[in-house]
Amino acid sequence: MSSALELRRALHSHPELSGAEHDTARLVADFMAPLRPDLTLTGLGGTSLAFAFGAANNGPTVLLRCELDAVPVTEAGASDLAGTGASAAHRCGHDGHMAIMAAVAESLAAARPSRGRVVLLFQSAEETGAGAQAVIADQRFAQLRPDWVFALHNLPGYPLGAVVLRSGTFSCASRGMVVEFAGRPAHAAQPETGLSPAAAMCQLIARFGALAAEFEGAGELAFATVVGARLGERAFGTAPALASVFATLRCETNETMARMVEHCAASALRLARDDGLGVTVAYQDIFDATRNAEPAVVCVGRVAAPLELIVAPAPFRWSEDFGHFTARWPGALFGIGAGTGSAALHDAGYEFPEELIAPAAALMLRIVADRLAGDAE
Ligand SMILES: [Zn+2]
Ligand SMILES: [Zn+2]
Repeated sequence: MSSALELRRALHSHPELSGAEHDTARLVADFMAPLRPDLTLTGLGGTSLAFAFGAANNGPTVLLRCELDAVPVTEAGASDLAGTGASAAHRCGHDGHMAIMAAVAESLAAARPSRGRVVLLFQSAEETGAGAQAVIADQRFAQLRPDWVFALHNLPGYPLGAVVLRSGTFSCASRGMVVEFAGRPAHAAQPETGLSPAAAMCQLIARFGALAAEFEGAGELAFATVVGARLGERAFGTAPALASVFATLRCETNETMARMVEHCAASALRLARDDGLGVTVAYQDIFDATRNAEPAVVCVGRVAAPLELIVAPAPFRWSEDFGHFTARWPGALFGIGAGTGSAALHDAGYEFPEELIAPAAALMLRIVADRLAGDAE
């Protein structure tokens, strides 16, 4: 068994949630230490790690990113997953992405780039959208300053090993919105003496539902999904005073996201004002759209062979916090097919196909060679 495959299996049996990837980081660090990287940074913006091979002063820096985190397991009876008592599982394939990077590291350690530098970033907390920003905000990230950034994600539903590429937006921007209305409680026998947020809550839910139609003219996908709502308590003697609505906003560009946010917040404020309610609006799980730079897309397309190349006709609706990197540096996020029969990402039956490790690592090395051969464009 290859050492990258062994690492993948060790990581798979130590799934950890976003921001708490301590054992994962240790396993990665232990794997990398004997490869003697030219630069090692641990505890970057939390639990992220970075390793560099080559020199920054004689050519461009190409950064490759993978993710450390597993996803929460929510279904009943799954708490003793694999007998480990874990409440997380590697159902997004990040264990496989790390194994691909490990295989890349082994090749780079055996043959360092003749010019330029490769940075391998093992980033924490991708699932919550917090990890990329925390890494970039860490002062030590200045030591890694990239000229190019690349990342891949395995994609169930596509032929095994196919490269899935797209110019422009690869994956959507998304943002969780939390609206809380505050009124005044009353005895349920005399609701007219209180101030119920029930009507405002229902109208806001309806407005989220109508958002797609309102933004149709923008020529891009833009919609909201109400993921939850809460009104009052199961107390039959009390009319409610509090209501919350949780919705995810999703669209293709950061510019449209800014307009959606403004539009939805204004709706919430207007509904509250009309009914005399207090209101707060907050946001979480904020993901930028991941926009690919054309020279990076051309590069991946050029070196994809012998793998099959598929051009995605539309942006993927899911979000990736790699958008925080492509917003700052030219680069690309692309997919690698996990097989047409694979379970969907995050599903209970999902398993990263280990056959992808070697061809995906070889692809990453071809991308690196292509980018290090020329000057930063
Ligand atoms: Zn993922
Ligand atoms: Zn995921």
